[in-house]
Amino acid sequence: MSQMGLVMGTSGNVSVRFSPSETGEPLMAVTPAATAYSTMQADDIVVTDFEVDPIDSDLTPSSESLMHVAIYRARPDVGAVIHTHSVYSSVLAVSGLDIPPVLDEVIVNIGGAIRVSEYGFPGSDALAENVTDALGDRKAAIIANHGAVGVGKTLEEALQICALVERVSEIFVHATAMGQIIHLPAEAVEAEMAIYRMRNPDIGGTE
Ligand SMILES: [Zn+2]
Repeated sequence: MSQMGLVMGTSGNVSVRFSPSETGEPLMAVTPAATAYSTMQADDIVVTDFEVDPIDSDLTPSSESLMHVAIYRARPDVGAVIHTHSVYSSVLAVSGLDIPPVLDEVIVNIGGAIRVSEYGFPGSDALAENVTDALGDRKAAIIANHGAVGVGKTLEEALQICALVERVSEIFVHATAMGQIIHLPAEAVEAEMAIYRMRNPDIGGTE
C-alpha cells in the first residue's frame, strides 16, 4: 500500500476479520495508530474485539477502527478493509463528486458507481456510519474530505480494489477536466452488475 503510493507517512489503515475457533467471537487484526509503515512489524498489529477493545496488546489500534468494525458488522461478506489517502480519490473527496459508471472494470469489480460519503469527523461514529452507508453493497467508497476505503474477501482483493479506485479516480479527474464524460451504456452496466452479483453471491442488500 505504501509502495503503491496509496498512503503517506502514517496515514491510512488496514484490517482483517477473523474468528478464532475456540470462541467463535469475531475479532479484528488492525494496524496500530500513528506508526510508519516503513518501521511497522507484524508484532505491532493490534487484535481487538468488535468493541475495539485490544486483546493482549499495549498498542493503540488505528484511529479509524470504528469504521472498520462498522463495515464488518454491515457486510458479513467482507474479510478485509483498507483505508487510503490516495491523491486522486482525495481530489474527489474534496470535490464531492461520485464516480459514475464510466469504466467496465469498475462495475464488474466494485459493483457500481463509487459514492462520496457524507462528512464525518475522523475517528467518529458518524464517519463510520456515513462511510458504511456510502459503501452499501459495493466494494469501495470515497470518504468526504478525507480519502477512500476498499474492501474485499481477502487483503489481496481489498488492496486491488484500492488500487483500482485510485486509477479510476485519476481517469475521472482528467476526463472531467477535458470537459466531457461519456457514461457506459445502461445495458453494459446491467450486464456487468450481473457479473458482480454472480461473483459475490454472499453480498446482501437491496440496492
Ligand atoms: Zn484517514
